[in-house]
Amino acid sequence: MRQPLVAGNWKMNGSLEGVKALLVGIKAGIGTVARAEVAVCPPTVFIPEAQAALQGTSIAWGGQDVSVHASGAYTGEIAGSMLKDLGCKYVIIGHSERRTYHAESDALVAEKFAAALHASLIPIFCVGETLEQREQGITEQVVGRQVDAVIERGGVDMLNKGVVAYEPVWAIGTGRTATPEQAQDVHAFIRGRIAAHSAEVAQSIRILYGGSMKPDNAAELLAKPDIDGGLIGGAALKATDFLAICAAAN
Ligand code: PEP
Repeated sequence: MRQPLVAGNWKMNGSLEGVKALLVGIKAGIGTVARAEVAVCPPTVFIPEAQAALQGTSIAWGGQDVSVHASGAYTGEIAGSMLKDLGCKYVIIGHSERRTYHAESDALVAEKFAAALHASLIPIFCVGETLEQREQGITEQVVGRQVDAVIERGGVDMLNKGVVAYEPVWAIGTGRTATPEQAQDVHAFIRGRIAAHSAEVAQSIRILYGGSMKPDNAAELLAKPDIDGGLIGGAALKATDFLAICAAAN
């Protein structure tokens, strides 16, 4: 039985005061969430706030990106060991905004996956097609290639140490969610792709859905057999909405 995970990706939003208030709100309501695992990924500079607020609770926290390098002259980069020092459990890698705005390739994302594991972080590994790619009918080709890059880098056992997040790019921040059937189809495809290497890993690995998941559509997405939780952007910035999605994952 795969334990659902609901992770909030706060992206580059918030202020010190706003983040504190959001953490208080999430903490206050989390008592009702029992089965699902919950995590938040604040902007890096606010991770110490998450650490201070969430230490000793059931809520984990993580980063939004990690460097492939362990340390050195890489201005602006954050090493996995630094996230680990701040108590992070997870780190998001390969988010479509990183792939698009920072030209991160499949190979670089696979390196980041390995770097995260090297720092004992659990990668939340994002994959997904653009609208153009979906309309061209190459969703499986694109997502398959993204998944294969990690397997080629470190084998299916490496992939198994992370969590996959299927995030159709056209659904991120657009309010346009994949239908539960569309999402389930791609999740089943990903699981099948992994099963070609290991049936066991395919069965155990968690595959989250991300893309305009909200309180009013979470339950039907999460009811699908291959959807094991959510990576939440916009709705993670409001404690009541985030908690409602966490409750739907129970
Ligand atoms: C995301 O960026 O990971 C995401 C899922 O965003 P949103 O929920 O806002 O679509």
